[in-house]
Amino acid sequence: MLVNKHHPLNPLDYQPPDLVTPNVPAGPGELVLLRREAAAAVERMFAAAGSNGVSITVQSSYRSYATQVSLYGSYVAQKGQESADTSSARPGYSEHQTGLALDIGDANVGADCEFTICVEETAAGRWVAAHAADYGFVVRYPPGLQAVTGYLYEPWHLRYVGTAAALDMRARGIPTYEQYLGLQGAPGYK
Ligand SMILES: [Zn+2]
Repeated sequence: MLVNKHHPLNPLDYQPPDLVTPNVPAGPGELVLLRREAAAAVERMFAAAGSNGVSITVQSSYRSYATQVSLYGSYVAQKGQESADTSSARPGYSEHQTGLALDIGDANVGADCEFTICVEETAAGRWVAAHAADYGFVVRYPPGLQAVTGYLYEPWHLRYVGTAAALDMRARGIPTYEQYLGLQGAPGYK
């Protein structure tokens, strides 16, 4: 399943059939929900990071269509639609609605680093950049590829694609899921 600015959820208010809560640390107020396979992979990944002394947290996971309506709406109200579209998906176009995406943080770093570029420099950010593929995840919005993904660099946003695809992408040096699937870039909404 690929979701970007050219490929919305179908239907727009799609709900995943098998959301579960993995047993992993979460940020304040975050009820972690992911599809069953992604949730199991997150548990394995966080356990491996933990054994390397890295404490990852989930800052955001599944978000419903209704949640995205209010989240995107608040971004548009704050900074206007053009700016909002570089960092927040319109309702029905968010990977978080698939139940296969999550945003990570580092438990040992302050909240002012969450959802910002500084995640890249944290132990958690460096660990997922190096090892997430081993558990089937990719850093979905790499630097300098907004023309392909439609989003600015998000070192905190991971997408579960399965280990076969994630390892293949890493081995072949393919940075985005669009390029891996041979799809055109999706810089903006049609
Ligand atoms: Zn995200």
